[in-house]
Amino acid sequence: MLELVTNVQYVKGIGPRFAQILLEKGIATVEDLLYYLPFRYEDRLNPRGIGELRAGEMASIIADVRTFGLFRTRRMPIFEMTVGQGRDTLKCIWFNAAYLKDKFRAGMTLALYGKVEAGDRGGHRFEVHQPQFEILHDPTAANGDGDEKKWQSLEVGRIVPIYEAAGNGRLTARWFRRVIHGLLEALTADIPDAIPAAVRGRMGLIDRRRAFWQAHWPEVGESLTNLQAARTPAHIRLIFEELFFLELGLELKRRKVRAQTGVGFQINDRVRAAVKRILPFHPTAAQKRVLKEIAEDMAEPVPMRRLLQGDVGSGKTIVALEAAVIAMENGYQVALMAPTEILAMQHYLSARKILEPEGYRIVLLTGSQEHGRKKRAHHHIARGNAQLVIGTHALIQDTVEFDKLGLVIVDEQHRFGVMQRFRLMKKADEAEPDVLVMTATPIPRTLALTLYGDLDTSVLDELPPGRRPIVTRRVGDERSEEVWEFVRKQVAAGRQAYIVYPVIEEGAMEGELKAAIKMFEQLRSTEFASLHVGLLHGRMSADDKDATMASFQQGEIDVLVSTTVIEVGVDVANASVMVIEHAERFGLSQMHQLRGRIGRGAAKSYCVLMTGGKVSIEAEQRLKAMVDTQDGFEIAELDLQQRGPGEFFGTRQAGMPNFRVANLLRDRELLEAARREARNVLEGPNADLTKEEISRAVQHLRGHWNRRYGLVEVG
Ligand code: ADP
Ligand code: MG
Repeated sequence: MLELVTNVQYVKGIGPRFAQILLEKGIATVEDLLYYLPFRYEDRLNPRGIGELRAGEMASIIADVRTFGLFRTRRMPIFEMTVGQGRDTLKCIWFNAAYLKDKFRAGMTLALYGKVEAGDRGGHRFEVHQPQFEILHDPTAANGDGDEKKWQSLEVGRIVPIYEAAGNGRLTARWFRRVIHGLLEALTADIPDAIPAAVRGRMGLIDRRRAFWQAHWPEVGESLTNLQAARTPAHIRLIFEELFFLELGLELKRRKVRAQTGVGFQINDRVRAAVKRILPFHPTAAQKRVLKEIAEDMAEPVPMRRLLQGDVGSGKTIVALEAAVIAMENGYQVALMAPTEILAMQHYLSARKILEPEGYRIVLLTGSQEHGRKKRAHHHIARGNAQLVIGTHALIQDTVEFDKLGLVIVDEQHRFGVMQRFRLMKKADEAEPDVLVMTATPIPRTLALTLYGDLDTSVLDELPPGRRPIVTRRVGDERSEEVWEFVRKQVAAGRQAYIVYPVIEEGAMEGELKAAIKMFEQLRSTEFASLHVGLLHGRMSADDKDATMASFQQGEIDVLVSTTVIEVGVDVANASVMVIEHAERFGLSQMHQLRGRIGRGAAKSYCVLMTGGKVSIEAEQRLKAMVDTQDGFEIAELDLQQRGPGEFFGTRQAGMPNFRVANLLRDRELLEAARREARNVLEGPNADLTKEEISRAVQHLRGHWNRRYGLVEVG
């Protein structure tokens, strides 16, 4: 009998050599192999007769090999084959397929799957181009397998699972079918199920062993549509399980943090008055609500772990500074971490403007600061002279020692996963500081649940008053002269403009693209000869960047030519025009972030998306979305759909769990349910959960967390 933990090499048909190949796919145990689900199912229960095919349909056909040959055309080798069922014949064509030359023999039985096309050569009514195929039977092969009859039944006359091949094609779909079928037959009857019975009951989950069987070998009558959409009872059971333990882990993490001693900040009239004093404007209702949520957390002697989501321009900065004032008034230090130096600089400037008049002491720490200055800053921080420390993530996390750190504010913008790696240098006997993470990319709720399920969230869902919608237009760059004329007019009316390029310099790879440096030279000597034009890009020294930003902020520069370095957080209220060149090159969230740089003042704002070059269908969708909506959540959803969760969040290292069966785009409802049930379990024993069940679920999770989700230890 095989157990879930058994090494796959002991499964019949595998052995040490194949086990090695499977290991490269992350499959080490029987359980791992059971999770290697088919990516597709083929209906070979009712394979189509050649006589009843119709052009345009996807069909599964079982037929004999009649004739075949490799033809070399000028452009590529083409492999053609005629297959037949009795008197009906069909042509199959594989392009660029010299590798098929020696694969077939006349008389073999094949299963074919592909799109049926009207035939146009050789007298066949229909052709199938590039069909997927499997050799079901080879009459010429020496048949060493006594079970051939039985295996045959796995290939036809049923819905057949199709697996991704492994080991450069050495482990074929067919190989997986046999091995996994054998494994299921040999699998012990008693496989543990760590999901508590009451949860199973509420969700209507089938048992685990049956789920494995049916996900690989669907029962007769199962709908092909449900199978392909992973919506059979078997799939639902396996997906829910994966999501349930993820949520359970996140919830445990959340509880673990909350079990530590944090700082309980005093919030009395004096502190409230201090917070009020710094406000340069009336906060919006959303800002008030969010500050209240934060302040309530801060007052608790439990470490705060809160995510503040708010679209660009929603006014997160002032909320963060209010929280900072609460901490400073309580005699604690605050760290504000930004993803880039420009942004750290900007936070520093606005924090000084708002906080220094009230006597708070602020220091800036950046990598490019001169050594002596850095050393003095460190000294002030360690001695407690500096109350608010602003710098980049890396800098503050790695090297800074605080005297009495009480609050950490992380301006993540759209970089994620900082929480997962979060560590600060602090003294061992200190209370755990509160942490507030701010993000500007609205995160679709499902993803927030997954990535930040261990955080509490606040949402700034209201823009400050007086904002007018930004007029967004899309134009081809053949009309650039009109655009430049428009920019000149806006500048004449007292406004400022950004012009953004995808790259800094023209390189060999990007030869077709207009680049920031070149266009800066060109524009300032031609179209904008009478204006003050500035240049900003990532390869400039920090001092030059700062100087440029400062003069743009002060209105000395009319038109700022730049790369996407301005994307994050830059705030110049008088800038009301944004021209994005090669807009077809930019990601959706990126363009939305860029556009968020304008529309911050009273003037009407304009965003011009200029395209130059080929615009793909996806790019077309992105541009349309930009023109149609300014709602960050809507844009994030579309972006997520276009790019998938991995790309959307950057990379795996950003803390995305690697799922085996779940898919965040497809399985949102199951994720919500999993979260609800996971929380329910940890509420403790109640009428329908026993203590044993709870500890079994938690135990199961401990054994699986690292490998299953690739996330950090729960502890
Ligand atoms: P983000 O959420 O993108 O960081 P900011 O905090 O930079 O947004 O705020 C955007 C702009 O709106 C800033 O110029 C800020 O001063 C202004 N602002 C924020 N809140 C208000 C408010 N309640 N009333 C008026 N202006 C506000
Ligand atoms: Mg900001």
